[in-house]
Amino acid sequence: MGQFKHIQVPDGDKITVKPNGKPQTPDHPIIGFIEGDGTGPDIWRASKFLFDAAVKHCYGGKREIAWMEVYAGEKADKVCGSYLPDETLDAIAEYGVAIKGPLTTPVGGGFRSLNVTLRQKLDLFACVRPIQYFEGVPSPVKAPEKVDMIIFRENTEDVYGGLELEAGTPEALKLIDFCKATYGWDIRPDSGLGLKPISATGTKRLVRAAINHAIEHKCKSVTLVHKGNIMKYTEGAFRKWGYELVREEFSDVAVGWDDCNGKPGDKILVKDTIADIFLQQILTRPDEFDVIATMNLNGDYASDALAAQVGGIGIAPGANINYETGIAIFEATHGTAPKYADLDKVNPSSLVLSGVMMFEYLGWNEVAETIIAGLKKTFAQKRVTYDFVRLMEGATLLKCSEFARAVTENF
Ligand code: NAP
Repeated sequence: MGQFKHIQVPDGDKITVKPNGKPQTPDHPIIGFIEGDGTGPDIWRASKFLFDAAVKHCYGGKREIAWMEVYAGEKADKVCGSYLPDETLDAIAEYGVAIKGPLTTPVGGGFRSLNVTLRQKLDLFACVRPIQYFEGVPSPVKAPEKVDMIIFRENTEDVYGGLELEAGTPEALKLIDFCKATYGWDIRPDSGLGLKPISATGTKRLVRAAINHAIEHKCKSVTLVHKGNIMKYTEGAFRKWGYELVREEFSDVAVGWDDCNGKPGDKILVKDTIADIFLQQILTRPDEFDVIATMNLNGDYASDALAAQVGGIGIAPGANINYETGIAIFEATHGTAPKYADLDKVNPSSLVLSGVMMFEYLGWNEVAETIIAGLKKTFAQKRVTYDFVRLMEGATLLKCSEFARAVTENF
């Protein structure tokens, strides 16, 4: 094929997107991977081994993934002379689905963050984070099994789409003057300023994805998490537009709290909660939440807080998806943990579970179920990596690669 300078396109077929935005997966789909920096190569090697073994276990060679390496981060700098080459974005856009390890953000490299840049350039508007407990995994809370949620965090607006002006700069002073002259706002002259946009378009496509997920997975509720009591025209508008969408597009299957007095019958209940109370209630009554739809910053806090309840970032998966174009990147949610690089030590579960999300997205549900079953047995046998060993009684310490092999032995 040869359309890229550095990327080798393997033999295989392109995933196409059906008119409803769902992927149509051939038997030999080409899937991009970015191994990542720091511990990335270790966890990628272990995860790829596990993914290939699970596909083989389920389909006996009839189906197989054609992995295509795409470059980002330190390896991209070495191979292509840029931390995020254009051909990486082009390849992911063309082939649709990719999976990645963590990336170091180069200091002074002109990027706010490579991860954020990937999400924004490909308009991957939903950051999807399922939070599920696995029996035996060490947790700081009393009843972690009550946590079973999925967060849809908006990825393109709010603080990710925000602009800032540094205190004392002519730009900041000009805006302060403008605000005083135009709106009569008094802002201290030594203030830094930030703008955060939240649009009806951005809100509705995100909430639509969350409700569609609830429909497909027969979930009982979707909760809009916001701080609309204080920020009425951004966070409050998110709430308003979310409920509006339910009435406009989903009235046959879902109903807003105010439209049913909290009694949805057999429909999905769309409710809302203030972000600070939400963070309290996910600790005190997590079983009341199912699908969460929220803006960027709230989603950031909520996903890490919830991940901690079920075992921490070593085990939290994630995906960034545009449900309209079908383009999706599945990714480990932790960072590169550089002090453990090349030691074959860290927990690959975050990337492995991101792969589970990827297989579900591709419609290869048997593979996702096989991996989950293998993980459950391995955790129950207390055969785990260092991070869990230090929190579990009587556990057996495995290296990163050994853990992946143990999971495949439990298929
Ligand atoms: P980090 O890499 O996530 O590591 C923080 C700590 O989390 C580690 O020291 C380790 O804790 C634990 N940890 C991380 N990954 C683990 C794994 N797979 N298994 C078990 N434990 C794991 O965060 P950081 O040190 O703040 O950031 C390092 C670099 O990663 C930075 O360059 C940052 O920009 C980048 N980063 C990338 C992403 C991404 O690509 N998605 C996300 C966040 C940060 P212990 O030391 O206690 O064992």
